[in-house]
Parts: sequence; structure tokens; C-alpha cells
Amino acid sequence: MGEALLEVKGLKKHFPIKGGILSKTVNTVKAVDGLNFIVEEGETLGLVGESGCGKSTTGRVLLRLLEATEGEVIFNNQNIFDLGKREMRSLRREMQMIFQDPYASLNPRMTVGDIIGEAMAIHGLAKGKDKERKVRELLEKVGLTAQQMRRYPHEFSGGQRQRIGIARALAVDPKIIICDEPVSALDVSIQAQVINLMEDLQEELGLTYIFIAHDLSVVKHISDRVAVMYLGKMVELADKEELYSNSQHPYTKALLSAIPLADPTANREKIILEGDVPSPINPPSGCSFHPRCPFAKDICSQEEPEFVDRGNGHFVACHLDPEEI
Ligand code: SF4
Repeated sequence: MGEALLEVKGLKKHFPIKGGILSKTVNTVKAVDGLNFIVEEGETLGLVGESGCGKSTTGRVLLRLLEATEGEVIFNNQNIFDLGKREMRSLRREMQMIFQDPYASLNPRMTVGDIIGEAMAIHGLAKGKDKERKVRELLEKVGLTAQQMRRYPHEFSGGQRQRIGIARALAVDPKIIICDEPVSALDVSIQAQVINLMEDLQEELGLTYIFIAHDLSVVKHISDRVAVMYLGKMVELADKEELYSNSQHPYTKALLSAIPLADPTANREKIILEGDVPSPINPPSGCSFHPRCPFAKDICSQEEPEFVDRGNGHFVACHLDPEEI
């Protein structure tokens, strides 16, 4: 195992639902409900699950774009939830985020050069000619041209806008980038180009990524380890090869069986999941996957399985042994 850059302990994010004329809390959405994991320096951790599983909320809580309800996030030997506004601002330089829809996060009235330069100016990293030179270098690093710095976001394609989002994140020299579905809105051919770019940049700059996606095929190429989330909890976490060849959680198996095979004539048992993801307001008792799990036993609705290491950092939360599923 490498050195831990980020350590997450008992992380929860609950949203109160207000109701009635007194606007009292009548219920709670448990979007993130007790996560424990580490992210090693220089690795890519894929974070996967269906929509509503809490993966994007997790990304936002890790950067304190949303305040956590409970838990700790240790970065640079300090719990970031203990930091004041000023300390947090300087820490944000080291922890950046790339969003699914880069267009929504790029100011349409600013040129691309100003968007990228603004991040440097806020953190006092460069000004004047030096800033302009760095912006040019960054644009070229992400596969655009220095001349494009005078253009506006609407003049670029979806893939190019994501490259601008990446350049903006890189402008402040981050250590870790949380990538929230960065290629989900792009055509498949463009997805591969952006992922390749991110891999090249990781190698060149020694970056660490948390790569959030809703399906296992997207993260397969780029991840070193993959974590699968279901209703606010992790259900499986393992090295990439181990997870794709020896998954031990029925939900991961179902997600894997939904990935189209390169050879359409090849035989593979498809696990069809019944029903939709239940509401995180009143999650099912015991193992929250039990109403949809084809292997559920009586114990599954009564006791919550622990998330335990079954060896070599392969964590699984399931009552059954691998031979039983
Ligand atoms: Fe299925 Fe039971 Fe395992 Fe949950 S604990 S995944 S319901 S077998």
C-alpha cells in the first residue's frame, strides 16, 4: 500500500426534510451514511454507484462544498472539518474538483484565459505576464492552443470545455482532484480522449484522483482501486483487477453483468436487478440491498453486514461467503 493522502473516517451527510407550518424536521435523507476509506498518494480511486447512491455528495463533502453531518477527513495530517475559513481557502488550492457539466461551471462572460488566470490570481500564484504565460502553457498541456485563451466557453465543444475545466483545476497546482462524472456527458469517442489526457497528466504531475462515475466500465481503465456505493454506504472496495475478476458483492456482480461485452456472442450470466434504488429517507433494514438482492436470506433484512477486509484490502459488506453467490 502507498502512503495515505486522504483518510475518511465515519463520514456522514444527512439532509433534514422540513415540513408543516412550523418547518420542523420531519425526516432525514441519509445521502452519505458512514464511509471509511483512504486514498493513496498518486492513485486513482474509482467511486461508482447508481444515481442517488451518494457518490457526488461524498465528493462535495470531501471539499467542504457541503458541510458533513459527522466524521473526519484527514488531509495533510489535519481534520479539514476543524479548519477555519482562511485555512480552508488555502487548502482548496490542493484539493480541486472537476464537474460533470463544465459549461455550467465556466463563467460564460469570461474568456478562457481569464477563467484559468482567475484561479491563479485568487491564490496569489501568478500575475501579469507571468500569469499569461502560465495560462498559455496550461492550455497546451490539456490539448488546446494558446490562441484559444481569448475565446469564450460557448465557442468550444463539450470535450474542449472539459479540457478547460481540467486546466482551471491544474492552474493552482493541486495534489488531489475530485472528478465528478467528468466524461458522462461526452460522446464515447471523446470520453476516451479526456480519460487518456487525465492519465497522462496524472503521470506527469503526480496527481491523485477520486473518479466518480455511475458505471463500472468508465472507471475500469483509469482506476487503481474501485469502490462501489449503494444507498450512502460502500459495499465493496478492491484493487481494480481483483474487483473486475473476483467481485464478492451481489450488487457489484449485477453492475458488472450490465457492462456490454466486447464479443456479443460470448456467454455471460446477466443479473437483472428488480426495482429501483430505494429511498435514502427510509432505507431498508439490515442490508439495504436486500429487497433487490437475488441471494438474500432471512438474516439480510435483520442485521447490517459489516464492511470487512477479506484479505489484501478487498473490503466487502455481505453476510454470504463468495461461494454462496
Ligand atoms: Fe444480498 Fe444479503 Fe449480501 Fe445484502 S447481505 S448483499 S442482501 S446476500
